[in-house]
Amino acid sequence: MSHPRKLVFRVVMVLLMVASIPLNTSQAQGGITVENATVAVNFGQSITFMAKIKSAIPLQQASLIFRGVNETVTRVETVQVAEDGSVSFTYNASQNVFPPFSPIVFWFQATLSDGQTYTSAPITFLYNDNRFPWREMAQGNVTVHWYAGDDAFGATALNAAGAGMLAMSEFITISLTEPVNIYIYSNVTDLQNTLMLGGQEWAGGHTNPELGVVLVAVAPSSSQSIEMETEIPHELAHVMLYRALGSKYNSQPAWLLEGIATMVELYPNPDYARALEIASENNSLLAFEDLCTSFPSDAGNAFLAYAQSQSFVSYIRKTYGTSGLGRLTSAYGDGFPCELGATNALGTPLSQLDSRWRESVLGQNATGVAARNLLPFILLMLLVLVVPIWGAIDILLQRRKRANQSK
Ligand SMILES: [Zn+2]
Repeated sequence: MSHPRKLVFRVVMVLLMVASIPLNTSQAQGGITVENATVAVNFGQSITFMAKIKSAIPLQQASLIFRGVNETVTRVETVQVAEDGSVSFTYNASQNVFPPFSPIVFWFQATLSDGQTYTSAPITFLYNDNRFPWREMAQGNVTVHWYAGDDAFGATALNAAGAGMLAMSEFITISLTEPVNIYIYSNVTDLQNTLMLGGQEWAGGHTNPELGVVLVAVAPSSSQSIEMETEIPHELAHVMLYRALGSKYNSQPAWLLEGIATMVELYPNPDYARALEIASENNSLLAFEDLCTSFPSDAGNAFLAYAQSQSFVSYIRKTYGTSGLGRLTSAYGDGFPCELGATNALGTPLSQLDSRWRESVLGQNATGVAARNLLPFILLMLLVLVVPIWGAIDILLQRRKRANQSK
C-alpha cells in the first residue's frame, strides 16, 4: 500500500467518491444548512463523512446519523463542530461492516442555542468496493463493471447478461425498471476478500437481489465467455426472481431458487450429470427435504445439491409445466412448509416428488415404478381371482360340513 502509484490511485478514488455525491447538498432545513457534504470511502476500512453545518444562532451539539438503506439499525455519532461549522467523522468500516456496493444514507442533526433540534435532509451514497479501477459498459439499465480484461471482455459480459435474460424470460418475468449492476472480479480471492470485508459469506457467486447487485469471479481467458454465460445468468435469475416474488422470495426453499437459477445457466456444468450418476449409484443423493432452508456447507455436497436441484426443477417443469413452477413459488410464498407446498401446488408431497424424480430421471427402483404402473391391473386381477377363490373355499367348507353331518 506504500507504493507511490497505489497512493495516487487511492487519492483518485477518493476524489471520485467525493464527486459522486450530489453537488447541491447545501440544504436549509429549519435552522441548519449543510454545505459541502462529502464522503471518502476506504472500502472495508473506513468511511469519512465531512460537511459544514451552518446556522443563524450558535450550535450546541451536532450528530451524524447514518444507516444502510435496507437496514433498520441507525448509527448515531456525536460530532465535534469547528468554529467555521466544519464537521468530520471517520467510521470504522472494518468493525461494523456494510455490504459492498450498497447505498448508505446519512444526515445531520443539530441542537441550537435556543434548545431546538433540527435535522438536515438525507444524502445517499454508494459504498463501492473502490480498491479496483473499475471500468463499465451499459445497455439500458444493465451495467457490467470489470477491472481486468479489455473492452471485448466487458462486451462479452453484457452479451451473457442479455442472452441469459432472454432465455429465462420464458418462465421468469424480467424486470429492468430498477438498475442491475454486475461486478466481475478477476479471481475468486478478490471476490472472497470483498465479501469478507462486507461481512458476507462466500458462495460460488454472490447476489444481493434486493440491491440488484451481482458479483462474480471471471478471469480474462479463452474460456471467459463460457464462464460468463454460466455465472451471470445464474446470478441474474436470483435478481429477477426477487423482483417477481418480492418479500415472498425469502420463503422459497433453497432447492427451488437454486434449481431455477442453475437451470438458466447457458452452459450447464457437464460435471452435474456425473455427480448425480455417482451419488445415485452410491445411494448418497441428498433428500430435498434437507435442502429447504439451506445448502450443505462442504464443497462436495454443495456441488451435489446444485446438480440435484437443477435436475429436479427441470423434471418438475417438464412434468407440470411453467405454470406448475409458478404454483410452486406462490404456494411457498404463501408460507406453506417445504413438504406441503408441493402438495398444494402439484398435488404431490415433496418426498414423493423426490422419489418419482429418482425413478424417472435417475432410473432408480425400477421394479417400484413398474409395480406402480401395474397397480390398477394387479388390483383388477386380484378381484377377478379372489371371487372364485372365495367361492372355492365356500364349496370346500360346505362339503366338509356335509361329510361331518353324515358321520
Ligand atoms: Zn444461486
